[in-house]
Amino acid sequence: MNLETLKQEVYEANMDLMNKKLVILTWGNVSGYDEERELMVIKPSGIPYSEMKPYQMVPVDLNGNIVDSTYVPSTDAPTHAELYKAFKDKGIKGIVHTHSQYATMWAQMGMDIPCYGTTHCDYFFGNIPCTRLMTTEEIEEDYEKNTGKVIIEAFKNIDCVEMQAVLVHSHAPFTWGRTAHDAVEHALILEYISKMALFDYLATQGKCPLVKDNIKMKHYNRKFGPNAYYGQHKQNTAIYRIKNEVNE
Ligand SMILES: [Zn+2]
Repeated sequence: MNLETLKQEVYEANMDLMNKKLVILTWGNVSGYDEERELMVIKPSGIPYSEMKPYQMVPVDLNGNIVDSTYVPSTDAPTHAELYKAFKDKGIKGIVHTHSQYATMWAQMGMDIPCYGTTHCDYFFGNIPCTRLMTTEEIEEDYEKNTGKVIIEAFKNIDCVEMQAVLVHSHAPFTWGRTAHDAVEHALILEYISKMALFDYLATQGKCPLVKDNIKMKHYNRKFGPNAYYGQHKQNTAIYRIKNEVNE
């Protein structure tokens, strides 16, 4: 992909965060990954959405070097870089970070988002994980990079394609997808699910039943499994594989 095209895509995805009311002020950031050049393009730091332009999107390699730009990348760039290093070979080419309210509430409680129903199952396979609390050393040195590392640690036994969202403990969510736009869509769906789950959780004093495993698999697989039958076209089954067993 042409680098200018990726900058345009990442710019539009960042603007979309504002349009979808997932961020306020300069919060949030979206990046997209260029496989050929092995670099990501990410939102510049501290520029208001109303003043942002496509050419200001910053190309950064996965070691943190800015490539041909005078703009400073988002402070969260090292987190994005860690995630691309771990997930890019599975087809993850877009990452989003927001502080969308309901997802952030779960992150602040330090809790996984329980899978209560099929709306959740349609997009995320199982409970949406919350990372462990970071240690003092991890916070004081290389905070953003270590944020990426604790996310990857949380995905040791979770497939990053089956679960394209995470909550960072005491912080907020990250989502990802096959493109920057996909990742934004997942951030929007995550927020919608987070709100419903919070109300379910509070209304039942934490006793809302988890969705049954067979319903969970049915809903996920009919959209993303090899025999997917939801929608007008077959899904890309190359990176989505059927779940034969539940691993939670
Ligand atoms: Zn943040």
